[in-house]
Amino acid sequence: MIKDPWFTVQQIDNQTFGISEYGHWEKVHSFLLLGVEKAVLIDTGLGIDNMKRITDQLTGLPIDVITTHVHADHIGSHGEFERVFVHEGDKDWLVNGIQGLSINQIRKDIRRDITLPTPVSFDPDTYRPFQVEPTGLVNDGDIIDLGNRKLMIYHTPGHSPGHICVFDETNGYLFTGDLLYDETPVYAFYPSTSPVDLVNSLERVAELPGVFMVYGSHNTLGLEASILEEVKRAVIYLRENDLARFGTGVHHFDGFSVKF
Ligand SMILES: [Zn+2]
Ligand SMILES: [Zn+2]
Repeated sequence: MIKDPWFTVQQIDNQTFGISEYGHWEKVHSFLLLGVEKAVLIDTGLGIDNMKRITDQLTGLPIDVITTHVHADHIGSHGEFERVFVHEGDKDWLVNGIQGLSINQIRKDIRRDITLPTPVSFDPDTYRPFQVEPTGLVNDGDIIDLGNRKLMIYHTPGHSPGHICVFDETNGYLFTGDLLYDETPVYAFYPSTSPVDLVNSLERVAELPGVFMVYGSHNTLGLEASILEEVKRAVIYLRENDLARFGTGVHHFDGFSVKF
């Protein structure tokens, strides 16, 4: 397997790789899915180091980058790839810059609690989330056929307006972005988020049939699909107690938590 000073590459199966940044407190994962004639890269990480250096070692196929959502920690290496896709709800942030999060806050978050050496090209004082006009849009219900596997796009707003999940129907892998991961709270407490939408989106993905593994974008790489049963319970609890509102705080469930 690939040895790299910044990225950790983990093989999920012969044609699926997790590309992780454990040297940063956010423990961000991006995912490379190989098809027959092209590959899909779900997100491109923090932009502290060059992710194309990794994908070049894993495949010679052309790569389409699919964006789960436009936050700095998911679009960092977008500029290294030619074809970039995003949901319409987050497109404006990709083109014109992320709204609702100040550049000072973004730089504070990018520079803290780094435990691995960073490349000389990384300067937190001048760091900016990448901006680009996307190649195209991905919409709810889109099917990306990679020849050997079919990827379904689900629009799952809440954490951001244009957040999407990607379901590899063939293998039962559900890539949940920042809608669902373990250890640290899922965020929906700032103005550009929506607690009500987040709960609706959690309900939607929890009902998907045929999920074998859940891959969130932070912390543990790969969660058992049984977490979706807890998500169903969480949705009922949050609604019955009228908690899907800003300011209700952190809500803990078995295996994950949310902050409103
Ligand atoms: Zn995010
Ligand atoms: Zn994130």
